[in-house]
Amino acid sequence: AAGDDPPANEQNEATNGDNGDDPVNPADVSLLQKIIRKGLVENANDVEIQRQDPNSPLYSVKTFEALHLKPNLLKGIYSMGFNAPSKIQETALPTLLADPPQNLIAQSQSGTGKTAAFVLAMLSRLDSQFNFPQVLCLSPTYELAIQTAEVATRMAQFCPEIEIKLAVRGEEMPRGAKISEHIIIGTPGKVLDWGLKFRSFDLSKIKVFVLDEADVMISQQGHQDQCIRIHKCLASTCQMMFFSATYGQDVMEFAEVIVPRPIIIRLKREEESLDNIEQYYVKCKDQQAKYEALTNIYGSISVGQAIIFCHTRRTANWLAEKMAKHGHSVAVLNGDLTVEQRIAVLDRFREGLEKVLITTNVLSRGIDVEQVTIVVNFDLPIDMQGKADCETYLHRIGRTGRFGKNGIAINLIDSPESMAICKAIEKHFNRKIRFLNAEDSDEIE
Ligand code: ADP
Repeated sequence: AAGDDPPANEQNEATNGDNGDDPVNPADVSLLQKIIRKGLVENANDVEIQRQDPNSPLYSVKTFEALHLKPNLLKGIYSMGFNAPSKIQETALPTLLADPPQNLIAQSQSGTGKTAAFVLAMLSRLDSQFNFPQVLCLSPTYELAIQTAEVATRMAQFCPEIEIKLAVRGEEMPRGAKISEHIIIGTPGKVLDWGLKFRSFDLSKIKVFVLDEADVMISQQGHQDQCIRIHKCLASTCQMMFFSATYGQDVMEFAEVIVPRPIIIRLKREEESLDNIEQYYVKCKDQQAKYEALTNIYGSISVGQAIIFCHTRRTANWLAEKMAKHGHSVAVLNGDLTVEQRIAVLDRFREGLEKVLITTNVLSRGIDVEQVTIVVNFDLPIDMQGKADCETYLHRIGRTGRFGKNGIAINLIDSPESMAICKAIEKHFNRKIRFLNAEDSDEIE
């Protein structure tokens, strides 16, 4: 059913959908996903490869040894717990490490191993005998630059000769001073200052240029132009690498400006499906009745954990308070929280310290909470026009291949409008949403 969605929809993956009154900032979502993630996101799809020059050979590797890395770099990779290249790395790494260097555009969802791939390429390409920047990596925000630098530091832990310089707010260079580190990781504004205004390093000596999170970059005001200005100062022989979690038209147009004659590799997101999900709807006369139905249902199927989606923060807070008063351990995730607070909430929920997570937006999506067996739509997802938002419904309820487990979805209906939305969703996916009598939850199998 998910295949009905045109691929262009992935474009807005992080920002679209029913966020209630919570605006979602793509840079925040990206950071949150990076911090919370404990490992690779599995994906059963095949990598798609596109080449401009069909004469250039293309390899793929199944082991890190096959890449003939510096021994200390290989040691660093293994010490990070990586045993074999991820799917995207199998093709990206030989391309990134090829001689002569090849340009690459890679697109795959967050968590598939892009960062590890380009960090490895950055570390293997530099020559530590020369004390000037040879590798430049641009990230959209301060926090994302720090994340990448941390990965680089860990991977280079057995290569003490490699030095990294952060080019982010708070870092200053005295006028006239030259940067001696081999790698610069930073945000476009600072890199532009140091590279062009202060001439703290020579952009024309950069051998490897990485543009990370290109889709988030585009969403940050002015960043795209800054990247292009930096790019103009690079040598034509500089290897260009471009990474993005989405591949909308604006991202690909940006990629064309940055990366001449690229090899393009894509790994499509694994589709979510409703196949193993029992879907129900419950008729209620108002919000109070929805609450009662919810506690009835939840009380009688006390298995695992539940996520409850509300349309607004107000409803979420009201519901959380009410449930807490009745002795349920609940957590709330909404746009009032800082990124750190959101991480803390999700970590606690994952550990099972709270049984119920109430949320207003799609931030909790993509975050593996395997124990969740019930998803409740306290409010059904609607778009700006008030129509059924089927895509968001699927993201809330659906599961990808790796969760073969069964789940239960319950939709609370309190008006003819919400009933119509429920019916529209049922029709869209062609999957029955069954009536459930909330007073008699024995009906749930
Ligand atoms: P992306 O940049 O696509 O979001 P990352 O490179 O950050 O993905 O990788 C996602 C997670 O998987 C990280 O926790 C990273 O440490 C881990 N990871 C990356 N490559 C491998 C690998 N080959 N084997 C095991 N884990 C990996």
